[in-house]
Amino acid sequence: MNKIFNYENSAGKVCYLPLHSFFTKDNKMQPQIILLKEGTDSSQGVPQIISNINACQAIADAVRTTLGPRGMDKLIINDQGKATISNDGATILKQLDIVHPAAKTLVDIAKSQDAEVGDGTTSVTLLAGEFLKEAKPFIEEAVHPQIIIKAFRKAATEAVKKIKEISMRINKSDPKEMRQLLEKCAATSLSSKLVAHQKDFFTKMVVDAVMLLDELLPLNMIGVKKVTGGGLEDSVLIAGVAFKKTFSYAGFEMQPKKYTNLKIALLNIELELKAERDNAEVRVDSVEEYQSIVDAEWKILYDKLDILHKSGAKVILSKLPIGDVATQYFADRDMFCAGRVVEEDLKRTMKACGGSIQTTVQNLSPDVLGNCETFEEIQIGGERYNLFTGCPQARTCTIILRGGAEQFIEETERSLHDAIMIVRRTMKNDAVVAGGGAIEMELSKHLRNMSRTIAGKEQLLMGAMAKALEIIPRQLCENAGFDATNILNKLRQRHAQGGIWYGVDVLNEDIADNFENCVWEPAVVKINAITAAAEASCLILSVDETVKNPKAQQDGPPGGGMGRGRGRPM
Ligand code: ADP
Ligand code: MG
Repeated sequence: MNKIFNYENSAGKVCYLPLHSFFTKDNKMQPQIILLKEGTDSSQGVPQIISNINACQAIADAVRTTLGPRGMDKLIINDQGKATISNDGATILKQLDIVHPAAKTLVDIAKSQDAEVGDGTTSVTLLAGEFLKEAKPFIEEAVHPQIIIKAFRKAATEAVKKIKEISMRINKSDPKEMRQLLEKCAATSLSSKLVAHQKDFFTKMVVDAVMLLDELLPLNMIGVKKVTGGGLEDSVLIAGVAFKKTFSYAGFEMQPKKYTNLKIALLNIELELKAERDNAEVRVDSVEEYQSIVDAEWKILYDKLDILHKSGAKVILSKLPIGDVATQYFADRDMFCAGRVVEEDLKRTMKACGGSIQTTVQNLSPDVLGNCETFEEIQIGGERYNLFTGCPQARTCTIILRGGAEQFIEETERSLHDAIMIVRRTMKNDAVVAGGGAIEMELSKHLRNMSRTIAGKEQLLMGAMAKALEIIPRQLCENAGFDATNILNKLRQRHAQGGIWYGVDVLNEDIADNFENCVWEPAVVKINAITAAAEASCLILSVDETVKNPKAQQDGPPGGGMGRGRGRPM
């Protein structure tokens, strides 16, 4: 069994220590040994496991109602008063400041599901909560947790095997079929979000965006920009890099705003008239000497600008400011410049257009310049945007999201992120299953049938796992306001008759073949969700003692606790 030691002074970290580390080897009749500090709080045994299970269920309850196309959203206000509206399990759990050490595990699996596959975060939390709920009666009746853990692991392995066996593979080489597959998966992911009404619009956009990338499908090559105003359907996908026009000085208006087949210089240089005397102490005795210093300063700047002009670059981008003198200089020579470009945008331009970011103008050879087919400045809503399209190096794109409220656009961004992740996953990995509880019902049936072939306690435990899987269709019904018992009975019957893809039909309060209804999900989402949920519940079941150290306020670690205290980076 593991113990949780919750040391308050190591940033709330939970660590597992073996049993012998805090009991002496032979504790016969010895005087009482004080091992832990006064005020240490420790609880153990069955009540401890039960209490951890209850905490996890509270977490599952927090996200329960958000599951599925009829799920509700949560509005969370953080300590700075910032409101977030979300339907995404991981986002909600991240926003909640959970302190219970065992319950944090569920937050972690939701986060890992988010990072690994991007969708299915609510499902994974619900499943883990339900596995634990089913384990609870066994724990109360004094079944040893290790037996439960063993059975759960076995059941999870079986379930994953079954998913792999029944998942459908799509012919990747047929572009039309592949595209359809991607669109269906993206649509299923989006149908449970706030933007479900604009599902078709965004499905197309997300699939187009991912298709624009190269084989590695790097996520950071899809830029997402938000412009408030306009309707959701005014959002656009741009096949290239786009970023908001940066702060500009006088003279900017005279610069051309469109070029074709151009060279781009990417800089990390300040092009401003800089008082060089700031860098060194200069002593002067006469006005002439002073003038020569001022002249030198101008010359330094003009030399730089001259080199840039001669390099043949038409567009100058810099991370640092480009001042008014430089702006005017470029304007006079039919060039465009933008200073204070956000680093991320500059890097994306570099990856897309080639070249490299220069910190000096001394070696501005042609190979450090980027190039692209067109550069253009356009108006989007109330903002001006710089667009670079036809980039030769990396394939990249930018989604510009429009919409009313800021929270709404933010939730749209998160929803698109889920869908983009799903499309990427499906492209790499073409197996799909039917959603809407269909796959869970089939797994449940499989496990139940299997459990009957096993003798002993494991039979019951595997049956418990089978029952727990039904939480997904059950919750989908409940969130849609359907009679869950009725629908689940129908589903069980249909699955027993061999209708493996039957799931909840949220439109007609009935059951339907969700494969035909095109509610598709990548198999990997489900595999990951079940594995992670089983692992998390096993971890929680294996903890039978929590030892909580008293707050280490006065006697922190040596060195006054600097750098390792709570909230400070390690
Ligand atoms: P998660 O964070 O787990 O992805 P969602 O709120 O996105 O949670 O809900 C996903 C669940 O909703 C999946 O089980 C999926 O199969 C189901 N679902 C999505 N679209 C539909 C639909 N059109 N009909 C029935 N179920 C659906
Ligand atoms: Mg989802």
